[in-house]
Amino acid sequence: MKYNCIKRLGLTATIIFGVANAGAVYAQTADELKNDTSDPSSILTYGMGYGQQRHSSLDMVNADNVGKLAPAWAYSLADTRGQESFPMLYDGVMYVTTHNSTVALDAVTGRQIWKSVIEYPAETPRVACCGIVNRGSAIYGGRLFRTTLDAHVIALDMETGEEVWRTKSIDYKAGYSMTVAPTIADGVLITGISGGEYGIRGYLEGYDPDTGERLWRTYTVPAPGEPGSETWKDGGDAWQRGGGPTWLTGSYDPELNTVYWGTGNAASWNAGLRPGDNLYTSTILALEPKTGAIKWHYQTSPNDPFDYDATNELVLATIDGRKVIMQANRNGFFYVLDRTNGELLAAPQFIDKVNWATGIDLATGRPMDTEVATKARTGEQVTYYPSAFGGKNWSPMAYNPDSNTVFINTFKDVGMQYKAVEPQYRPGVFYFGAEFAWAWPEGDRGELRAIDPMTGDVKWADSSALPRLAGVLSTAGNLVFTGGQTGEFEAFNAETGEALWSFNTGSGIVGQPVTWEKDGKQYVTVVNGAGAVYALFSGDERLATVPPGGNVWTFALVE
Ligand code: CA
Repeated sequence: MKYNCIKRLGLTATIIFGVANAGAVYAQTADELKNDTSDPSSILTYGMGYGQQRHSSLDMVNADNVGKLAPAWAYSLADTRGQESFPMLYDGVMYVTTHNSTVALDAVTGRQIWKSVIEYPAETPRVACCGIVNRGSAIYGGRLFRTTLDAHVIALDMETGEEVWRTKSIDYKAGYSMTVAPTIADGVLITGISGGEYGIRGYLEGYDPDTGERLWRTYTVPAPGEPGSETWKDGGDAWQRGGGPTWLTGSYDPELNTVYWGTGNAASWNAGLRPGDNLYTSTILALEPKTGAIKWHYQTSPNDPFDYDATNELVLATIDGRKVIMQANRNGFFYVLDRTNGELLAAPQFIDKVNWATGIDLATGRPMDTEVATKARTGEQVTYYPSAFGGKNWSPMAYNPDSNTVFINTFKDVGMQYKAVEPQYRPGVFYFGAEFAWAWPEGDRGELRAIDPMTGDVKWADSSALPRLAGVLSTAGNLVFTGGQTGEFEAFNAETGEALWSFNTGSGIVGQPVTWEKDGKQYVTVVNGAGAVYALFSGDERLATVPPGGNVWTFALVE
């Protein structure tokens, strides 16, 4: 009895010590998240800062010495799916997600500290249109938050990997899934939903990070009578399957206390069946984080027939003294908005071939449609540019604020033959409402571009046979990092575009490179693992010889 009591006391003491220790080491605060970019020894926010610039002030690895960059370690994720995860880093520990696991690694050695496995119903992958992926986590107050393919939101203890809470967002059987990295804004955990091609009704949600309680849900397609419902003129129930998913992480401006989040295309693609602008699909939303209330909205593709999601990352910057938000949209135009009010400041074309609109009218903010768009809506066969892959797909761009340059992985001259047809709705089954086929160019299909965000002027470009689907990283070392679908991790001179360094990681890269510092040494990390939307849908035979994989690769300069 006495022994038991002592044992129990000892155990209790250990737990208390653990908690106290965790409190000291693992309690990321709102201020730490806000100041993420100023501390290169941690990565606490998706996109390396709430503004998602993916730019680092580190310059120990630079254009002069990048040739000496070599692997420090690699860690197997034991998963052969495509890997799009954004690595997080806190107090020397790196956190990486896959569709069915979360791992904590010693950032310097790659040693696994814990691995937390997620189980979900075997039939779930059926509802993930464009890859069984997960894009990463949010961390805050000692907890890691992530989403699951079967549409749950979970919180893990960052020290142990144990699940703290789990909340079901919605029934995945109706075509809903979750691949998004959540974010924390004003103390609220905010998540988005996937499933735009399954006839879902999109939404954003806010959760209490302490309890997992849902605080709000804001639909991206209004019900009849709600604001914006007047833009669904079909007179029926199109809104119930209206699309508008929210599958990429939004940005946050703590000063304006506003979250910015892009929404996906309207469903089905047959725009003639849903006359009107179809708010808030293909729209950039500004929201109040505590309530989910919409402050302003800007729609990039009204009544979209072409799968032109406006989900791409929203990069915050200050240009010419104005607080702006930038997006390289699927539809081929690069939007620069005043983020205080949603005013459109510029919308240059950022790829060569766009034929659905001649431009964006800066006075009205609306696209100037060509007959390709109008014919598509009336059911005629057209070939449109850019294709449903977009001028840019999901892969996040980087912005160097010092040179005012954006670095974007673009699709080059890829179009689509298209004809709207009557859609058939069945829960959890594709709901396209169109017949389509790719229209490939003769030559290269991708181009990494350095552009001026206000003019779209191309400073340099690096063409590639296959389009790059990886994220881009910019550094003060005059470098741009990205990766190829055939496995190369690559570094370019940020000023000239000269290819400086490349390393074959053994499987295609569709992940998101990051850089960080520990004990005075700079590291660069990227997750490889071939897969994702192009590999699934293109039929590109050149990918057949690329091995599947899934490794966290970390690089440093060789001494
Ligand atoms: Ca879509």
